[in-house]
Amino acid sequence: SPIILWFRRDLRLADNPILAEAAATGRPLIPVFIRDPLVDALGAAPKWRLGLGLERFARTLEGLGSRLTLRAGDAAEVLEALIRETGAGAVWWGRQYDAAARDRDAKIKKPLQERGIDARSFAGHVIFEPWEVETGSGGAYKVYSPYWRAVRDRDVPQPDPAPRSLKTPKDWPRSDPLADWSLSDAMNRGADVVATHVCVGEDAARERLDNFISNCIDGYKAERDFPAVEATSRLSENLTWGEIGIREVWHAGARAMQNGARGGEHFLKELVWREFAWHLLYHHPRMDRDNFRPEWADFPWQTDADTDAVLRWKQGRTGVAFVDAAMREMYVTGTMHNRARMIVASYLTKHMLVHWKVGLDWFADCLIDWDPASNAMGWQWVAGSGPDAAPYFRVFNPDLQADKFDAKARYRRRFLAEGARAPHPDALAFFDACPRSWALSPDMAPPPPLIALDKGRKAALAAYERLKADA
Ligand code: FAD
Repeated sequence: SPIILWFRRDLRLADNPILAEAAATGRPLIPVFIRDPLVDALGAAPKWRLGLGLERFARTLEGLGSRLTLRAGDAAEVLEALIRETGAGAVWWGRQYDAAARDRDAKIKKPLQERGIDARSFAGHVIFEPWEVETGSGGAYKVYSPYWRAVRDRDVPQPDPAPRSLKTPKDWPRSDPLADWSLSDAMNRGADVVATHVCVGEDAARERLDNFISNCIDGYKAERDFPAVEATSRLSENLTWGEIGIREVWHAGARAMQNGARGGEHFLKELVWREFAWHLLYHHPRMDRDNFRPEWADFPWQTDADTDAVLRWKQGRTGVAFVDAAMREMYVTGTMHNRARMIVASYLTKHMLVHWKVGLDWFADCLIDWDPASNAMGWQWVAGSGPDAAPYFRVFNPDLQADKFDAKARYRRRFLAEGARAPHPDALAFFDACPRSWALSPDMAPPPPLIALDKGRKAALAAYERLKADA
């Protein structure tokens, strides 16, 4: 009988354990993607980017004579209907580790198994299953360095090659036209601009990886903090949708390291930050909602996401050039450099004393590489409420950061138009890429500072002192 392959964040052929095992059975395979409530809940940019990924993956499957069946609705009901229609005896999927996906999958798996359906989940989104890495005393890790030491010498399985063909069922089930799903509707802010920066699908992701290994990994450690330099892999966009397998990326980095690439080990360490984020989210399922350290519940965060000050942060009009350039990079390219993410997060949570959840939610709406685990870990790390967080009193000074990491102002000039004599095309593109309702124009005067940096820093430190005193 056929096997239903339920794809989620694993839109690839190679390094995909479900596909490798399914292809080896010789049974007919029915690849499916379900637009269920969890997909509907995605932010505007991730949902739009998912649509591009699905379109490409459907074509990839067609290249193997197969198809991607698209269905919308409650996942359990959709799978039931598909089993009825196709006589499938198995439903296989790649594991997800956030609370909502785990709840959904657990509710689906047991009833199917009780009816004799082979409902099975596979590893593949991360290298190390979150429960397979334990401290000496048997618990989960909270600190990155010991986690890294625990995993760095482990054997990482070699990636499975892409199957050459996929056996088809006698009849294909009905599929929704992708266009009917309108996944791009919420992206009513200049999708055309972001579209010029995306890199969609498995082949493009592999090219990106190859390019990084050939040209950038050697200088990765030295240059990865400079946002104007193309020094990082940019694979987050592909990893989050599973357009490239993490084991394939790991082995490419490990080989480069063996061949003497200076940034090799550092690259592997960054991949392990992603692993660590999933480890944390798995063991602390509310990490994207609650302060990791409970004492932070009393911190006087400002929680209103609709104030003028928050709007100016979102618009990149705080008057702090590094912060503003970074926010605009996000609308124009759909991603943001890691150093810049830290700076804007620090500015929001410390200088502005706004709750990290306001920033986390905004990133979830705007990033095409949105990843529930890395986003939550990143925000809590910067805010100081996370496990293994940067100490709260270490308030980034965005101007000093700019002097250090963008000394020639190339990054700021690339993304800021106001006051510039000949603005960079990307700086102008921002005005097409941001929400129309903002009514911004490149002819506006540069914004005055929202907060004097030293005043913001002092207010943040005073609030922190009060938290410590009350603890
Ligand atoms: P590279 O430097 O080439 O690193 C390779 C891969 O390692 C990345 O693709 C990513 O998968 C992983 N990685 C690197 N740095 C980190 C990190 N600090 N944490 C976790 N994984 C890492 N990353 C996301 O993928 N999605 C998010 O939604 C996200 N939100 C973030 C929010 C904040 C506030 C912060 C501080 C960081 C966030 N990050 C997020 C982590 C990091 O900024 C991005 O992974 C990185 O910028 C992606 O660029 P790259 O692919 O060129 O990375």
